[in-house]
Amino acid sequence: MGVDLYEVLEVTSSATDLEIKKAYRKLALKYHPDKATEEEREVAEQRFKEITNAYEILSDELKREKYDMYGTADGTGSNGYGNNPYDEFFGGNGGASADFSAEDFYNFFDGMNGNGHTNGHSSYGRGGSKRKEKPRTEDAVIDVEVTLEDLYKGKTIRTGSTRNIICTLCKGSGFKKAAIGKRCTTCDGAGTAARIRRVGPGLVTQEYVECKPCNGVGKIYRPKDKCKRCSGTKLIEETKILEFEIVKGSKSGEAIVLPQESDQYPGKETGDVKLIFYCKDHETFIRKGDDLYSKYKIPLVEALCGFSKVLVKHLDGRGIKVSTPKGKVVRPGDFIKIKNEGMPIKSSNKWFGSGSKRGDLYIEIEIEFPTDNWYLEKNDILKMKNLLPNDLQNKSDILKQTINKDSLPEANIEVVTDFLIETINTLPKYDTESESNTKGTRTSSPHYDDFNAYDQYDSQPECRQQ
Ligand SMILES: [Zn+2]
Ligand SMILES: [Zn+2]
Repeated sequence: MGVDLYEVLEVTSSATDLEIKKAYRKLALKYHPDKATEEEREVAEQRFKEITNAYEILSDELKREKYDMYGTADGTGSNGYGNNPYDEFFGGNGGASADFSAEDFYNFFDGMNGNGHTNGHSSYGRGGSKRKEKPRTEDAVIDVEVTLEDLYKGKTIRTGSTRNIICTLCKGSGFKKAAIGKRCTTCDGAGTAARIRRVGPGLVTQEYVECKPCNGVGKIYRPKDKCKRCSGTKLIEETKILEFEIVKGSKSGEAIVLPQESDQYPGKETGDVKLIFYCKDHETFIRKGDDLYSKYKIPLVEALCGFSKVLVKHLDGRGIKVSTPKGKVVRPGDFIKIKNEGMPIKSSNKWFGSGSKRGDLYIEIEIEFPTDNWYLEKNDILKMKNLLPNDLQNKSDILKQTINKDSLPEANIEVVTDFLIETINTLPKYDTESESNTKGTRTSSPHYDDFNAYDQYDSQPECRQQ
């Protein structure tokens, strides 16, 4: 084959691994069949194959050496491939398929980054977006349930962690320092083997996996040379306590990440340990943003005459006592707002810390009316009638309801004695209303809308953010 692989990649024969990789990346992106138009595709495909072939050989130290020496990668005159990676690359599809997405293509690059043939850290970002360069070990995720008190006061969660770390004696080689091994014949000392992975119909990516016979070391050692501490496995177990600090004012569903506390593995970046905490429902409070909501029921007499009592026990154990000012009437739908008694507001400012600012506390006052026949003596009713105001306060209400006596002669008035008193929940339900109100309960004022929203919130499993 008379093709100069260096020419194919548009580099000189003295190009470094990095230059070769860069050249390949540039050309592969340029000629990727996905980018080509229908007419150009065949040409692009052919070109892409050539580029990939050249890269496969020139990026491999041994193959490049042989190519430089004999003009072929295996010294026999073929192109150096046992199995033909680009035919596999494009599968039996008869060419590049549209299924071979850009994402797979980048994965293909990622696979190469950890293959050990290119020296050290290559710093290829994809179009500025940061892609991990090395394969990573899996992140560990821990879910925990916390209480609203925990989020109010802040909490440190400690958990025992047992993970694999790289053997501290052999530093992950698996063998004694003085041991001399033979080059592994399976991987030719590379420690890795290319593997074609099918990711879809007619769609494959290439990834590099650890060579099995030599355990990724590239050399075969005698059993007695195995590291005493890890018995050649390169890994030992480490047990320690991990600490996660839940900052005051944190919200349900947030995560705390301890970087690189997951399993270690030679040649891989260490994954993170992530703790995600979810807040349990609270008996007294519902959290909305940084505010807290609670309900308190009082008898009608207190709504009219005022009260002085502990309405809630706060999350830190304090009782919150409220005395209404003299003459204050509390009405249905009223909330008592206590400033700065909500949740601490989580601050990203380390120096001022969380909790110096707080949301507010809203206590919804529910008013219980007396049962029928509540009075002890008939006289009590009279007393009440004399005590409470007899007229509506709003003049327009009065006007609206006043019926002109001239237009309604006495004889035309029907006295109704047979009636029922229904409540919002016992009224019949109508189709038209169910459209606007899925709960089937009626809304007669904006306040009730609030109540309904509150009730729905109540039944949610978490005090998560809405
Ligand atoms: Zn060891
Ligand atoms: Zn090997």
